[in-house]
Amino acid sequence: MKMVRSMNYKRVQELRWDPTLGEWVMVSNIRDLRPWQPQDFCPFCPGTPETGFGWDILILRNKFPMLNEEPIPPGKYKFYSTAPSYGRCYVVVETPKHDIDDISDLDVTEIYKVFKGVKRKQEDEMRDPKAIYFLFFRNKGKEIGVSLTHPHSQIYVLPFIPVKVLRELINSNRYYSKKKQCLFCDIVNIEKEYGERVVANTDYWIAFIPFYAHWPFEVHIYPLTHIQLLSQLNTELTKDMARIVKKVLCGIKNIFEKPMPYMMVLHQAPLKGIYTFYHMHIEIYGMYRMVGKLKYAAGMETGGGNFTYDSTPEEAAHMLRNTVEIKCKE
Ligand SMILES: [Zn+2]
Ligand SMILES: [Zn+2]
Ligand SMILES: [Zn+2]
Repeated sequence: MKMVRSMNYKRVQELRWDPTLGEWVMVSNIRDLRPWQPQDFCPFCPGTPETGFGWDILILRNKFPMLNEEPIPPGKYKFYSTAPSYGRCYVVVETPKHDIDDISDLDVTEIYKVFKGVKRKQEDEMRDPKAIYFLFFRNKGKEIGVSLTHPHSQIYVLPFIPVKVLRELINSNRYYSKKKQCLFCDIVNIEKEYGERVVANTDYWIAFIPFYAHWPFEVHIYPLTHIQLLSQLNTELTKDMARIVKKVLCGIKNIFEKPMPYMMVLHQAPLKGIYTFYHMHIEIYGMYRMVGKLKYAAGMETGGGNFTYDSTPEEAAHMLRNTVEIKCKE
């Protein structure tokens, strides 16, 4: 069905501007041409033509990317604006081990290698004058459409700043102009002082469910030092980031009998420009409200744009902190 549709239509890969919300939509029908593969074939296991042998982590070009180095020229349309889908999409194969459930099952050193690899990739990408943003993210769970179970995350090198980060930049810039202080540092200090929403601590990082969480188990992880970019983290901070991510993801996995689907995303400053008022962090959205019950971004959330939270972040943090303390010893 899908194949037939794409063959009848022109090939399109472009950014379309939504003039009502003021944001880009990435449009591509090229991904529909994905070839059929046998059910048990894993393209990320060692020994395929693409992966080869002798690696700890691999960063591969996505074969059917949303963004391209040499994108098809965008269409010309009456009234509407478009832009080229310039960019790069990568898959980070986090380990040669196919059969682990999640990266929290890896050792801290193995997770550190993943972050080190991503950091290096970012350093390369920063040299491209057209690379504006480096979005590193991870989706986990069949329920949210992750079909390939081999542990992997993704990188989108974008020609624009993602809209959620843009809102953070605007608000933190405004805060900084008024108070001469970093909004995120102030949040970290308040959460540290209050303590009830803190989920885990390490030497250089803190994890908490923020006062204003949207998703049921939404954990934000901050470096205690005021830093804007992943590429600015030294070895010690990167290792410690692996430590805290392992703790939090282990908690998310073990809080209910069944591992919970989640999304994890790195929020950092854009690659171009000076954003000293910004503070990088990781956001994890654990999506179960209770055992097996997925929180959907439904009418209110998707249509209205505001979230409803069916508990309190304090209660959720209490549950998660206990799980981390009992089940997630290093
Ligand atoms: Zn595999
Ligand atoms: Zn800060
Ligand atoms: Zn954020």
